[in-house]
Amino acid sequence: MMTPLAPNATIGIVGGGQLGRMSAMAAARLGYRCHILTPEADSPAAQVAAGVTRGAYEDPEVLRRFAAAVDVITFEFENVSAEGLDLLASLRPVRPSPAVLRISQDRLAEKSFLNAAGAATAPWRMVESLAALEAAAAALGFPCVLKTTRLGYDGKGQALLRGPDDLPAAFALLAPKPLILEGFVDFACEISVLVARGADGRDAAFDAVENRHRDHILDLTLAPAQIPEATAAAAQAIAREVAAALDLIGLLAVEMFVDRDGALRVNEIAPRPHNSGHWTIDACPASQFEMHIRAVAGLPLPPAVRHADAAMKNLVGAAEMALWPDILATPGLIPHLYGKREARPGRKMGHVTRLFPLGGLPGRFSIQDALAPLEIS
Ligand code: AMP
Repeated sequence: MMTPLAPNATIGIVGGGQLGRMSAMAAARLGYRCHILTPEADSPAAQVAAGVTRGAYEDPEVLRRFAAAVDVITFEFENVSAEGLDLLASLRPVRPSPAVLRISQDRLAEKSFLNAAGAATAPWRMVESLAALEAAAAALGFPCVLKTTRLGYDGKGQALLRGPDDLPAAFALLAPKPLILEGFVDFACEISVLVARGADGRDAAFDAVENRHRDHILDLTLAPAQIPEATAAAAQAIAREVAAALDLIGLLAVEMFVDRDGALRVNEIAPRPHNSGHWTIDACPASQFEMHIRAVAGLPLPPAVRHADAAMKNLVGAAEMALWPDILATPGLIPHLYGKREARPGRKMGHVTRLFPLGGLPGRFSIQDALAPLEIS
């Protein structure tokens, strides 16, 4: 049994982004301090944290200084080196473990793990050469999706292959090798489930939500997903099984495709809070961030219930930031900003949530009205 972290203890968070910011805000409400490790001078997380160690994630001296300042360590972002986390784990408890991070960091390790754990994915092949790509494409058929195995997010590092002519350029472009080729899933919708799991193996899974993307970036999350109850229950069961197979202590996001026949395939897992769980701040007694902190701190996990349905819209880049005054002036919209000074293209600046009575989430078309003045695709 893990001894619960005492009030006023310090939780170290590797990464300074909005996920760390909202985790630190949840931790503060539970009476913990957070200390952020980030190379950034003015990071969203450090703005709301008790302390910050500024430096490179790969620098052992920086990592030692960070570990010395905290009682337990977690991470809010996956592109940190697993070796760096290993060093941290030799100094303080790291939750989730570096082994979990290693699996989620590499699409080949992730898909192998998921399939071994009994979770269906798109069919896939490892690709190390153009000849191997040609053979894999012949086996999986067109269209198919070629992806880098590491450091891919928000659709970066992938190419849709429509026919044999697309292979050489895509293979030359994407790096580092090896790559992974996935069969194209003609999905009805994309969903995700967030599940928290404690050291005692108890877990709490939020309802499955539907995610809609624009330019490969999450645009809208609808909670709950408008899918049959049995499919939603199956999605939760998959998320819980994957978390158990990982022996996870922390929070896991499991992104899935719902096929046109209702079958579920896992696309990606992320052992941290996730953009598709931001609605839980406003619609649940304990948000994904509180669940994350509770799991990491060894506190009991409350049920992951929601008291309202919700729609969450991301605010991406300068165009959507320009809507901020209108958002603030619109009753019913719950605004969240992340404290980023520069609205670069594709950058997540904040999000907006709207709550609805349980069972009262409006259909796709009236979501547009419900979230006015935001533009919904
Ligand atoms: P990923 O970087 O793997 O999360 O992919 C980003 C987005 O690309 C997903 O949310 C899907 O919309 C789409 N996508 C990725 N892989 C596939 C696939 N095998 N079949 C169809 N769409 C995909």
